Amino acid sequence: MSDFTMKTRLLAALKGETVDKIPVCSVTQTGIVELMDKVDAAWPEAHSDAELMAKLAIANYELSGLEAVRVPYCLTVLAEAMGCEINMGTKNRQPSVTEHPYPKSLDDLAMPENLLETGRLPVVLEAIRIVREKVGQDVPIIGGMEGPITLASDLCSVKSFMKWSIKKPDMFEQILDFATEAAIVYANAMVKAGADVISVADPVASPDLMSPASFKEYLQPRLQKFSENVNSVTILHICGNVNSILNYMAECGFEGLSVEEKIGNAKAAKEILGDRARLVGNVSSPFTLLPGPVDKIKAEAKEALEAGIDVLAPGCGIAPMTPLENIKAMVEARNEYYA
Ligand SMILES: [Zn+2]
Repeated sequence: MSDFTMKTRLLAALKGETVDKIPVCSVTQTGIVELMDKVDAAWPEAHSDAELMAKLAIANYELSGLEAVRVPYCLTVLAEAMGCEINMGTKNRQPSVTEHPYPKSLDDLAMPENLLETGRLPVVLEAIRIVREKVGQDVPIIGGMEGPITLASDLCSVKSFMKWSIKKPDMFEQILDFATEAAIVYANAMVKAGADVISVADPVASPDLMSPASFKEYLQPRLQKFSENVNSVTILHICGNVNSILNYMAECGFEGLSVEEKIGNAKAAKEILGDRARLVGNVSSPFTLLPGPVDKIKAEAKEALEAGIDVLAPGCGIAPMTPLENIKAMVEARNEYYA
């Protein structure tokens, strides 16, 4: 017998408290084509329709067994509301940013007047309310969003972002602060709508794009500001091999750090974090969850549990063509580990 609900277990695990078993969920995108067909809630429509968005998210909890419900399925909701143009993608391809409002100058930088009523923000907030009504109080809801660093680069283009980071530090800091401010407003609106955890994916903060020295000097203070000002438990996901910035990520104030398999065995990462943050991951989304087979998924999941992972999860967004059976296998691996 356990006194934990799925929600209290996930929140306790993310805070570093003792739990009866490690929770298994996805803090990154969860939409897969097989479920879109099963429940008749497909991309790209499910990115812009609160009912469909909620329906697909709930399917991953009910049919895959993941112990949380997560919305939405892209990293473009806030970017779009702030002026980016978006290609909405297809049934198996996520939306992406195609045009940037501030590629050259920040002279016209302005926050939308009714940010929370702009673009698809109301859709996500409504989807969270629908999910809460349908799953009740004991199932955790994870509100996903682009992180402040990725949002900043979307607003000015990755090219300008990289250039400014070296040649125009004033503009670089200005766009970072602007994006951080908006990200905080949106995150808190998701919390108010019912999200228990805010999970930001910040791929542009990866050492693949930004140096560890830049991370420490420019990105860490913004991420700290974000986590300090968001009224919930927070998770920071950064793609790639983040070993060179893990020590700085641990100082950003997020309860959970979501990492890929590229960091290697989770044990060394856990030692770097100490009691500063909990580790979420790191079953490979593209190389294990997508292709399988089930035995390999289970082995990798159990290896992560053995290494002391705090929340068992895919290392990055779930690939849309991932079979339902493979996600179930990750959940089964956790159950078998405790059997
Ligand atoms: Zn990732």
